[in-house]
Amino acid sequence: MADTMVKTRWVYAFGGGSADGDASMKNLLGGKGANLAEMSSLGLPVPPGFTITTEACNHYYDNGQTYPPNLKDQVAEGLRTVEKITGKAFGDASNPLLVSVRSGARASMPGMMDTVLNLGLNDETVEGLAKLSGDRRFAFDSYRRFIQMYSNVVLDLDHHMFEEILDDHKDRLDIHVDTGLSAEHWEAVVADYKRAVEDERGAPFPQDPNEQLWGAVGAVFASWMNDRAKFYRRMHDIPESWGTAVNIQSMVFGNMGDGSATGVAFTRNPSTGDNRLYGEFLINAQGEDVVAGIRTPQPLTKIAREEMGDKNPSMEEALPEVFAQFKDVVGKLERHYRDMQDIEFTVEQGRLYMLQTRNGKRTAKAALKVAVDLATEGLITKEEAVMRVEPASLDQLLHPTIDPSSPRDVIATGLPASPGAATGKVVFTAEEAEKLGGSGEAVILVREETSPEDIRGMDAARGIVTARGGMTSHAAVVARGMGRPCVSGAGEIHIDGRAGEFRARGEVIRAYDVITIDGSTGQVMKGSVKMIEPELSGDFGTLMGWADQVRRLKVRANAETALDAETARGFGAEGIGLCRTEHMFFDPARIAAVREMILADDVAGRKAALAKILPMQRKDFVELFKIMEGLPVTIRLLDPPLHEFLPHTEEDVQAVAQATGLDAAKLMRRAAEMHEVNPMLGHRGCRLGVSYPEIYEMQVRAIIEAACEVAAEGRPAPIPEIMHPLVAKGEEMKFLRQLTDRTAKEVLAEKGVTIQYMVGTMVELPRAAIRAGDLAEHAEFFSFGTNDLTQTTFGISRDDSGRFLNAYIEKGIFDKDPFVSLDQEGVGDLIKIAAERGRAVRPDVKLGICGEHGGDPASIEFCEKVGLDYVSCSPYRVPIARLAAAQAAIGEREKDR
Ligand code: PEP
Ligand code: MG
Repeated sequence: MADTMVKTRWVYAFGGGSADGDASMKNLLGGKGANLAEMSSLGLPVPPGFTITTEACNHYYDNGQTYPPNLKDQVAEGLRTVEKITGKAFGDASNPLLVSVRSGARASMPGMMDTVLNLGLNDETVEGLAKLSGDRRFAFDSYRRFIQMYSNVVLDLDHHMFEEILDDHKDRLDIHVDTGLSAEHWEAVVADYKRAVEDERGAPFPQDPNEQLWGAVGAVFASWMNDRAKFYRRMHDIPESWGTAVNIQSMVFGNMGDGSATGVAFTRNPSTGDNRLYGEFLINAQGEDVVAGIRTPQPLTKIAREEMGDKNPSMEEALPEVFAQFKDVVGKLERHYRDMQDIEFTVEQGRLYMLQTRNGKRTAKAALKVAVDLATEGLITKEEAVMRVEPASLDQLLHPTIDPSSPRDVIATGLPASPGAATGKVVFTAEEAEKLGGSGEAVILVREETSPEDIRGMDAARGIVTARGGMTSHAAVVARGMGRPCVSGAGEIHIDGRAGEFRARGEVIRAYDVITIDGSTGQVMKGSVKMIEPELSGDFGTLMGWADQVRRLKVRANAETALDAETARGFGAEGIGLCRTEHMFFDPARIAAVREMILADDVAGRKAALAKILPMQRKDFVELFKIMEGLPVTIRLLDPPLHEFLPHTEEDVQAVAQATGLDAAKLMRRAAEMHEVNPMLGHRGCRLGVSYPEIYEMQVRAIIEAACEVAAEGRPAPIPEIMHPLVAKGEEMKFLRQLTDRTAKEVLAEKGVTIQYMVGTMVELPRAAIRAGDLAEHAEFFSFGTNDLTQTTFGISRDDSGRFLNAYIEKGIFDKDPFVSLDQEGVGDLIKIAAERGRAVRPDVKLGICGEHGGDPASIEFCEKVGLDYVSCSPYRVPIARLAAAQAAIGEREKDR
């Protein structure tokens, strides 16, 4: 044990044109430390320093907050190296070395942890600094900044105390700005600061630079566990076990007169991606002045200054020589890292120093442009460009979004169920949404939850809010399919339908009041908010084209209306992977016939009603086949329990009875008979086809007749894939296959033509996955219905789980909502088993996924690994799926190398 500890290296030096570490050592040195090392090795002007590793931080926490035994020696050695390079000495009264002490984790955690600047100053070294710089005022200003920062970060003293002292001085002197204070004034402030520290802590402000240094190192390690840092880590999935590194670096001063400055820069514009240096700087200032917002920073370039109509000189004009060197350095950095860089720098009396570089954070629009431009410039390959864009971020480009600079008056937060933002008047019923929406009004439908009956109202609304329901609730699934923004499960909203209002966070919102929803964050806001319209620029098309060249998985869409199908094709869908036929039954023109069918007392009665529905169904399919022009179309036969088509309340029953001439008492009786305790596990899916084969026969007939009709028009022959839902047993599948083939044969014989069609099943039940071999005897394709498969594997309701899943996520039992991102271990294992067992019986069985997970990048990566043939998702997620599929394919290939 002791032996290995002796050998462990805790400190890595950089500066003077070389470094112990490099950019690949982010895990050990943190992002900042690794890049400082890399910049030093590149010969760029970096103030020398050293990095204490993240392993030292972990050791500190694993060993009761104590340092590794030989860390002190290694730090002393690091300091000696810095002294050698700078020619200064730590604690030396005449030529003092001052350092900064900063945190630096593997992933950037801006502002979450602590920093101390100007460390090494004391009553003696401040005099040395005054002499060296020839500026006594600067030296004492630095000293008072150090006392304040150190006391706050390390000694845990409130910074207000220091501000009050400074204000007292200024009042007494009748001086209003800090710059009005002279060297003597700052000396007096320093004396008062020190006295206040001594009063507060009962000991003087530490004068020993070594004591100061270790105090600061301890504070940085401690800040890894502060509440802010912990919260940030939870939000961004950063493990606690990573730890933070500590960077100790010789100070350079941007506040040593008008030849000095400090600033930040991006090598390209981080919001638009434009290939132009972007950033700002301040003459005669220290880093924190730029962020503190006391003085307004100036643009870096002349052209940016002119565009902003700014009178004060840009860096290009104020410090032309340093600017030329800076431009050269940042160009080198971008070429070296082959990505847009986010840079911090300081100019000390005409000399440039680089303090940080990292890959810059950017908007989706900028990410696309930068990736495409870098590939066009030959700096990266097309495949690398494809890997550079976060698929989920494409959402930002496909829907209107809220202008980030616009204030938000949030009154409730729910689940971000369907992306995009919308503003409109509140309505509480689907009928009203349809009426107002149909006449061109922008409305937001606010409901407790939605049901299939609401579908037309949802379509007419600009956005949907539900108080209940999870990420795969009806509202969420349907809204995503339609591309309507939706916030589901906003439990803070209490709807009072009678009063025509809802309450949330003490606000009362009445019908027709305007609200805005953000389906990407789950926020519900009062009033209207400024929006940015989507823009599918040329870069989007270019990158998607590159993605399509490398992906293996096909991408289809879940769509049942002509509009959805057209949208899907516009986004590049290669077929329909799921057409849910029940949605077609809710049209007011057909719902009467559907109810008649449900109420019928015998097969003959049912068949008579079905005969009325048949031509309408056929028309639906003709339309879809025409839009898809020969691409595969998977049509799922009726799935939900029939009672969903019946009116529920007595009022509704009376209305329906009156409108249709159906017997109200019979309607009520039938609805009561059909009531199920667990409808999701009840008389639904292919169980309907087994009980009432005539329903499925009608649907198969409509599909095949439609295909014949389209083919007869000389259009590309459709390839219908007829899909049976919720199958559990081989015998069930056999029955359904026979029903399908028999009906199809009949139709084809009547028409005297041949067209191809396929018969398959959804895999939505654990038994179906386990006995997939039995199903494959009769099914030509499987489509994994992972919404139901997740529900039935966990025994958790997809409609109600929103209420308690949060507790599971907070307690770390689930990483993510399993209805959003596939549970790869459990549900994923069932998929693997089904694929294997299905292929063993039928090697060419076609495999796809059509649950909501088909549009989730992590789940798509899993589908690539398992070797599925396609994923199917809502139309607006098709581009996301195309990009995610390309990244998954590249990832798999890299692994094989
Ligand atoms: C599924 O269960 O995953 C599926 C796609 O079907 P639905 O959502 O219509 O139940
Ligand atoms: Mg299902």
